[in-house]
Amino acid sequence: MYRLNEAQTALVEKVRQIAVESIAPYASEVDAQSRFPSEAIEALAKGGFFGLTIPTKYGGLGQGLRVAGAVLDEIAQVDASTAMVYLMHLSGCACYVAYPAPFENVLRDIAAGKHLTTLAWSERGSRSHFWAPVSQAVEENGQLSLSATKSWVTSAGQADSYIVSTRTAGGTAPTDTMLYAVYKDDPGFAVNGTWNSLGMRGNGSSPMVLEKTVIAADRAVCAPNDGFRTMLEVVLPWFNPGNAAVSIGLAEAATRATISHLTGSGMQHLGNRLADFPTLRARLAQMRIETDKSRAHLVAVIDSVENPGPMTTLLVLESKASAGEAAIKVTDLGMQSCGGAAFSKHLTIERNFRDARAASVMAPTTDVLWDFIGRALCGIDLF
Ligand SMILES: Cc1cc2nc3c(=O)[nH]c(=O)nc-3n(C[C@H](O)[C@H](O)[C@H](O)COP(=O)(O)OP(=O)(O)OC[C@H]3O[C@@H](n4cnc5c(N)ncnc54)[C@H](O)[C@@H]3O)c2cc1C
Repeated sequence: MYRLNEAQTALVEKVRQIAVESIAPYASEVDAQSRFPSEAIEALAKGGFFGLTIPTKYGGLGQGLRVAGAVLDEIAQVDASTAMVYLMHLSGCACYVAYPAPFENVLRDIAAGKHLTTLAWSERGSRSHFWAPVSQAVEENGQLSLSATKSWVTSAGQADSYIVSTRTAGGTAPTDTMLYAVYKDDPGFAVNGTWNSLGMRGNGSSPMVLEKTVIAADRAVCAPNDGFRTMLEVVLPWFNPGNAAVSIGLAEAATRATISHLTGSGMQHLGNRLADFPTLRARLAQMRIETDKSRAHLVAVIDSVENPGPMTTLLVLESKASAGEAAIKVTDLGMQSCGGAAFSKHLTIERNFRDARAASVMAPTTDVLWDFIGRALCGIDLF
């Protein structure tokens, strides 16, 4: 459905092989132990996928959203936590690619599979409204420093760099913001809690704090006071459709597991298979339709991002809300269709069901996206 050329198809086949050999075998253990999916991330690095969207002049694969979407979809079919770690990495990469001059070494390291990045945006004070950080950089004697409480950071303590948002030093409006690269060993920067969640349990999205962390001048990942625009115009067109691809992968996994269970299990006393019950087949049909609709919508979004037009912003906003809610519906149908076998962890469906719920509360949340979309349709300013 992604309409890939031969070279792009080869990349997706390569990631599918990595998914089968190096991600799937650990997925249920990662979930049960709520541990970081190190084997999966190492395999993606080794396979060249850290640099998927990094321009070829830095050694990357130079791919765009189309291939990224297909790759995220594949990974999420076996482990959504790994897919989410990878999505946050690609979102961080988008910042470095958009503002490359001070980060050429980082871009080369990413392409070489030596550097994992992520976003540290959400703050305790403004919660899911990431576009309005309440922390503020402070400038004293020509030196910039930052103290902030970041409430959820995917790959916390595992990533090599973190794209940190904050209010611009001296800025007065909530949207006077900056993005800075903070590296894992920067003094004052530390993980500040553990990650124990309903779903996405391998995500390592622990809180992090910065305490008077000194920010050198060459750590800005955007033009002066351009954080707000960068978040919305550079990162969101990667993050929202990418998050949709993760939801679609989850929905695909639940649909396939349901097919397998309905056709592979039956009632001995009736001499039939579960697939012989029309109600269960009807649920399965709805799962297939919702998943296919979501993927088709995502491809329309990708087409529009590649050839921007008046609908592009709306479609980007729609993508995450649409696929995220669809995945919740699909995985719920899978739980109902497969009964106790799904409930008791015999199948992957209950993990898919728990993982799927994350999209709804990850910023921009479904509620916020619905509000933005409604505002856009009614000609009301978004902010
Ligand atoms: C698995 C996972 C990984 C994450 N990874 C990262 C990461 O890497 N980096 C990062 O910065 N953050 C990350 N986050 C944080 C995420 O983006 C959100 O900031 C966080 O989930 C918000 O939780 P909250 O309790 O603060 O929500 P709240 O903001 O308190 O929201 C509570 C409810 O209010 C609703 N709501 C909020 N505003 C409005 C509105 N205007 N209109 C209507 N309803 C509204 C929300 O939809 C939600 O239902 C992650 C979250 C999860 C679950």
